[in-house]
Amino acid sequence: MAVADAIQAIRRRIDDAARAAGRDPGEIELIPVSKFHSVDAIRAAVDAGCRLFGENRLQELEAKHEALPDVRFAMIGPVQSNKVRIVVDAVDELHSLDSLDLAARLDRRLHDAGRRLPVLIQVNTSDEPQKSGIHPDEAVRFAREMREFQALQVQGLMTMAMASDDEDAVRGCFRRLRELRDELREEVPEHGWDELSMGMSGDFELAIAEGATMVRVGTAIFGPREA
Ligand SMILES: *Cc1c(COP(=O)(O)O)cnc(C)c1O
Repeated sequence: MAVADAIQAIRRRIDDAARAAGRDPGEIELIPVSKFHSVDAIRAAVDAGCRLFGENRLQELEAKHEALPDVRFAMIGPVQSNKVRIVVDAVDELHSLDSLDLAARLDRRLHDAGRRLPVLIQVNTSDEPQKSGIHPDEAVRFAREMREFQALQVQGLMTMAMASDDEDAVRGCFRRLRELRDELREEVPEHGWDELSMGMSGDFELAIAEGATMVRVGTAIFGPREA
């Protein structure tokens, strides 16, 4: 399927899922995940109205940022501390913040560059040890510590649900993130908590039912990735 058609089909499914949940479809942003896909594929999605793209490797994100300076990129993968410079130069929002050490390094570099960066705190809601993200029990302490980093604007939370055919288990991960967000709103009101980045090609409708405001969809738009 052409990228534009695929985007239109996903948008329709987002709208349907939102209405089924009694939500306004306009409050859900589709973030195409363009990792491993070409600059031309991104251009096709831009022509279909998309402005913000997800990437999970910083060098690839930087190359695409240089090729497409008017496009915005969200970093959704792990950030090694020696690549902080690329975040400051090329990333528009960071969805995968899960380390205070990384936050401190980023904050310092951002101050030097005179800019601020919207961030989401990544939470491991599935208890799978290989997954990135802080443990839900650490979230309140983590969010309190984040108050120190003025160049980082906390806007909400991000998660990846467990990869499973068990819809209840997947949906439980999303519900856990929303409930955690509600708790953080009470406990650490200094930050913004509106955004919930959750849901991918296989599970974004469940995520919308649980309150997602950003869905990160790769395969269902761009097709399979060459590993
Ligand atoms: C690759 C990736 C996605 C998109 O996954 P698809 O299943 O291809 O839609 C979403 N979020 C993160 C963090 C990713 O790394």
